[in-house]
Amino acid sequence: MEEKVGLPIEYKNTLDYAQFLDNEDTLRSFRNKFYIPLIHGKEAIYFTGNSLGLQPKKTQDYVLNELEDWANYGVEGHFHARNPWMPYHEMFTEQLCKLVGALPHEVVAMNQLTVNLHLLLVSFYRPSKQRYKIICEAKAFPSDQYAMESQVAHHGYTYENAVIEVAPRPGEHTISTDDILAVIEQHKDSIALVLFSGVNYYTGQLFNIKAITTAAHEAGAYAGFDLAHAAGNVPLQLHDWNADFACWCSYKYLNSGPGGVSGVYIHERHSSDTSLHRFAGWWGHDKDSRFLMEQGFLPIPSAEGWQLSNAPVLSMAAHKAALDVFDEAGWDKVFAKAKALDQYLWHVLDEVNAACTDNPIEIITPRSEAEHGCQLSMLMLRDGKKIFDELKLQSVIADWREPNVIRIAPVPLYNSFEDVYRFGEIMKTFLVKS
Ligand SMILES: *Cc1c(COP(=O)(O)O)cnc(C)c1O
Repeated sequence: MEEKVGLPIEYKNTLDYAQFLDNEDTLRSFRNKFYIPLIHGKEAIYFTGNSLGLQPKKTQDYVLNELEDWANYGVEGHFHARNPWMPYHEMFTEQLCKLVGALPHEVVAMNQLTVNLHLLLVSFYRPSKQRYKIICEAKAFPSDQYAMESQVAHHGYTYENAVIEVAPRPGEHTISTDDILAVIEQHKDSIALVLFSGVNYYTGQLFNIKAITTAAHEAGAYAGFDLAHAAGNVPLQLHDWNADFACWCSYKYLNSGPGGVSGVYIHERHSSDTSLHRFAGWWGHDKDSRFLMEQGFLPIPSAEGWQLSNAPVLSMAAHKAALDVFDEAGWDKVFAKAKALDQYLWHVLDEVNAACTDNPIEIITPRSEAEHGCQLSMLMLRDGKKIFDELKLQSVIADWREPNVIRIAPVPLYNSFEDVYRFGEIMKTFLVKS
C-alpha cells in the first residue's frame, strides 16, 4: 500500500483478496511484535483492541529493566536507573504530543483516567449561580457519568438539573452535530462546561471536537474531552482545535496493559496559568524547590503542574514500550492501515447482510468515515447473544453490550485483512439460513 495513492476501491470478499491486501500491507510484520492469545489452540481473531489492546512483546523487557534497576540501585534508581525515575514521566512528552496534537507543556502522563477526569473537573468545572450546566452526550461511559454526577453534587447541584444530555433523534443512533451545537446555543447563558467523549464507547461515533469546542467557547464555556476511545484510534489535533482539556487511558488502543497510566492535555493558556484552581500534590510542585519540602504549593507552569504523586514506573514502562512500537510504525501509516481495514470490514459486513434475506445486522456506528474510527457496533436483530457465544467458540474475541450489541474493533498493528475476511465467513455460517 505504501507507494499507492488511495486504496483499492473494489474490495472482494475472498480469502485470496484478503491475503493479497495483507501482502501489500507495509505494517504486516508488526503483528509479530504482539502476543496474540490462543483460544482452543488457535490464534484468536482479536477484535477487542478498543477494550484492552494486546501486549507488545517488548513490554516484558521494559518492565524487567525497571525491576532490575530497582534491585540494583534501590532508592538511588531515582537518579541512576537507565531511565531515572525522578523525571520518568518526561519521557512521554514528545510521544504524547504526537498522539493528541499538542505542545510539550500541554501534556503529561499520570494517574488513571477517571482520577484525571476528576482532577480536570476540579479546575474546569467551577460553576456559578448563573453558569452551572454541563452539556454532554447521552450514554456517556458510566464512569464519566458518575464523575459528573458527583462533581455537580460537590457544588450542590443534581445530575437532573445540572447535566444536559444530547441524545440521538428518535429512531436514530448517531447524535447529530447540528443537535449538539443547537443544545449548546440553547443553554448558552447557563453552561459552565461542554464535556464529550472523542469516540462514544457504545456506538463508536466520533464527535467533531473542533466544532464542539468552537461552539462551547462562543457560549462562554470550557470544552473538555474524554479520549479513552479516541487516543490511538483516530488522528487528533487538540491544540489546533483549541480544546481546553482532555484525558485518555493507555490500555485500550494504546496497548499499555490493564489499568495502564492515563494521559492529560491542558491547553497552554491554562496549563501555564499557575493561579488556576486545582488539587495539588508534591509532584506538581516546582521541580527546583520540590525537595526543600517547604510549605506553599508552587505549581509547575505546565500540564505537569497537575501531577499529584511520583510516577508509577512499572506501568509507565509498559506504556513506553507500547508507544515505542507505535513510533516505529509511524502514526500516519497506522491510521492509513486503520482506514483500509475499516473499509474492508464495512464491505464484508454489507455482504453478510446481503447474503441474508432479513438484514440481521444493524450497524449503529455512523457510516461516514469522518464519524468513526476502528470500532464498529452491530445491533443484532436476531440471535445476538447466541452468535456472540458462538463467536468465542470460533476463537473470535468480540465484546458484548446489553441488550443486543456486539462491538468489534480491528486495529492496525496486529489485525489483518484475513482476520476481517474470516470474521465475515464465521458470521455468515451463523446468519445465512440454509
Ligand atoms: C474505558 C473508559 C473509562 C475507564 O476509566 P478508568 O478510570 O480507566 O477505569 C472511562 N471513561 C471512558 C469514556 C472510557 O472509555
